[in-house]
Amino acid sequence: MNDSARTTLDPSTPETTSADAPADTSGHGRIRCPHCGWTPRPDSVWFCQCGHSWNTFDTGGVCPACLKRWTMTACLSCGKWSPHSDWYPKD
Ligand SMILES: [Zn+2]
Ligand SMILES: [Zn+2]
Repeated sequence: MNDSARTTLDPSTPETTSADAPADTSGHGRIRCPHCGWTPRPDSVWFCQCGHSWNTFDTGGVCPACLKRWTMTACLSCGKWSPHSDWYPKD
């Protein structure tokens, strides 16, 4: 019988990840309202005419429920409508 239970405990060494690393957003950059500069949060939700609510910037302005493409996006802060592409920084 070989029931030598060998529990290999992996010592999880807590690596000190610097949480204050400078945001190197070379990808999308910062999404903001062209009018007031408000930045949508990950939990910000927009409401489609079909009743679905979701973060429109997760899908590029397309409602995942009815697949309607919203070319205009309303700001949740100032309430003004802007073309969806205007929310993305231009280089
Ligand atoms: Zn919809
Ligand atoms: Zn705004």
